[in-house]
Amino acid sequence: MTNVLVVGGAGYIGSHMVAILLKQGFRVTVFDNLSRGHKDACEGAHFIQGNLLDFAAISGCLSAQSFDIVFHFAALAYVGESVKHPEQYYQNNVVGSVNLLAAMRKHKLNRLVFSSTCATYGEAKHLPIRETDPQVPVNPYGFSKFVVEHMLSDYAKAYGFQSISLRYFNSAGCDPLGALGERHEPETHLIPLVLREALRTKLGGHSKDTALQIFGDDYDTPDGSCQRDYVHVNDLCDAHLLAAQQLLTNDDGQAKYYNLANAVAYSVFDVVSACRRLTGQPIEYRIEPRRSGDPAVLIGDAQQAIKELGWKPHRTQLDDMISSAWNYLSKGA
Ligand code: UDP
Repeated sequence: MTNVLVVGGAGYIGSHMVAILLKQGFRVTVFDNLSRGHKDACEGAHFIQGNLLDFAAISGCLSAQSFDIVFHFAALAYVGESVKHPEQYYQNNVVGSVNLLAAMRKHKLNRLVFSSTCATYGEAKHLPIRETDPQVPVNPYGFSKFVVEHMLSDYAKAYGFQSISLRYFNSAGCDPLGALGERHEPETHLIPLVLREALRTKLGGHSKDTALQIFGDDYDTPDGSCQRDYVHVNDLCDAHLLAAQQLLTNDDGQAKYYNLANAVAYSVFDVVSACRRLTGQPIEYRIEPRRSGDPAVLIGDAQQAIKELGWKPHRTQLDDMISSAWNYLSKGA
């Protein structure tokens, strides 16, 4: 039985991955500091509460069992917060990854699937963005992931350390059965915030203070708001599984990088309109200044993942992503 370690497996994307791995028959251990995640989101996996900033903790975890591969989801991932608190981002995302890689090398484990991001590209020169396009991150979050990507390519050259970095565009949606969802506190992502506003309105708790904020309506885009390329969380997880299969069967000692995207742009106003239609709630908002660190448009080309990993995104409609997130949120209300 393949034995996997999921670092950050109690978070939003990590917990969806754990559920899929368990369903596929993998033996799964989760290592998570629970700073943003939830232990009950990874039921069925062996759970270790630990912090990547504590080298002895991650090294101890790797010495206790022999793992075949590691998935690394543990990171802080809020653009706005990273601009305000860059130190936290470099500590958690960069130093944490340095410790993980050092512990993996110490225990002779050299296969890693790494959660990277389209935020490593910054403002795109042309769209959709390809893997070979320049990476010029415009916020500390993107930069922290960019640094780790570089480490992985240096580790491949020097040590034959094998990795696949998956550059997610905007992850959205939930497990269709409604058992898992996005439970960030604080929540800063657009779709859950729009749906929380819909729920407050539905439950009669809406007030001017709770109105949704839209960060900027003066971007150089058709409706003035930022555009993003949304990908269903389960499609992202499918790509991780394919990446793991490739790493487990190939011994090429390389670091590889793939976009995970649908090449379709939705603006912030498109998301609000779709949420209004799907929830039947009016959903009010107020326009606020631009949020620091936000690129105007992020749309990705995932042809390389489709060709080389055999990735087939199945849940490409924004409506499906929003409906599954609404299903989860309204269930818990
Ligand atoms: N956004 C917004 N209001 C919010 C949260 C996000 O207008 O309350 C905008 C944000 O400025 C960006 C887009 O929605 O243009 C997507 O932001 P999100 O935080 O969901 O993902 P990101 O692209 O930062 O990873």
